Amino acid sequence: MRPYSGEKLCVRCFCLSIENKVRVTIAKYDMLRFDDKIAIGVSGGKDSVALLHIMTKLEESFPNAKLTAVLVDEGIKGYRDEALKIAEKGCRKLGVKHVVVSFKEMFGYELDELVERLREKEPDGGGLTPCAYCGVLRRRALNSAARSCGATKLATAHNLDDETQTILLNILHGDPLRIARVKPVSSSTHFSFVCRIKPFCEILEKETTLYAYLKKIEFQSIPCPYASTALRNDIRTMLNRMEEKHSGLKYTTYRSAEKLWSSIENKAKAEKQKNCKICGEPTVNEICQPCKMLQSL
Ligand code: SF4
Ligand code: ZN
Repeated sequence: MRPYSGEKLCVRCFCLSIENKVRVTIAKYDMLRFDDKIAIGVSGGKDSVALLHIMTKLEESFPNAKLTAVLVDEGIKGYRDEALKIAEKGCRKLGVKHVVVSFKEMFGYELDELVERLREKEPDGGGLTPCAYCGVLRRRALNSAARSCGATKLATAHNLDDETQTILLNILHGDPLRIARVKPVSSSTHFSFVCRIKPFCEILEKETTLYAYLKKIEFQSIPCPYASTALRNDIRTMLNRMEEKHSGLKYTTYRSAEKLWSSIENKAKAEKQKNCKICGEPTVNEICQPCKMLQSL
């Protein structure tokens, strides 16, 4: 299944084709059971609201499944507050229950405060960008919220573009074992981790964007003020330029990672999971990454 071949489809057929691709992806990777309790990470951006929309449709095929949207308020003034309002409105419209968790409540800092402190400490952020902190803390917040909801699956709206960017990021950071984490269904067996699924993993960003536009789904369109500082942003630009010239390149990058999964995974699994000495969450080190980051402040 190639993600996009520029088919000339009417609006209805295009939207149906995307919904169908999501169904096929879910079936292909065996993402859902008929009675799963699914938490969906909804940020208010185009991908997550499109996923919420499609998952409510798919829920009809899983009559015993239950959906809950998880909204994370990182505390980014002028950006996340607006996105959360849009996400909450979307949930109400679709009749999906939602919960909001915030960085401030969970970690004691809003992301804005955290960035401020980092800049006071080290003007270059100690080599880490706001996104590095945000990504780690957001993953923790989503997992904890999903666990509190009793979810058996946590669906995120990572699309094919996000996944190929992450593959390259891991290589550029010298951490190729992390490519195993790009998998469409997470494989950690630790009871504290809610199994993560990525129903958009084979769908291009331009397809999810077009779906949201055509379905007239409200989403937040302004970019995060911190996005430009991230290496991911440069990789995105590079990949988009290359994809324009050599169509299908994102797809083949993802396929290459897929071929590596089984061999990398065994090595990644060999790193024994312990409980973090500070928060008790699972980690391969004595202290987990979120705690390390918070300590550094
Ligand atoms: Fe967080 Fe970076 Fe995304 Fe902004 S762009 S929400 S800081 S990960
Ligand atoms: Zn910890």
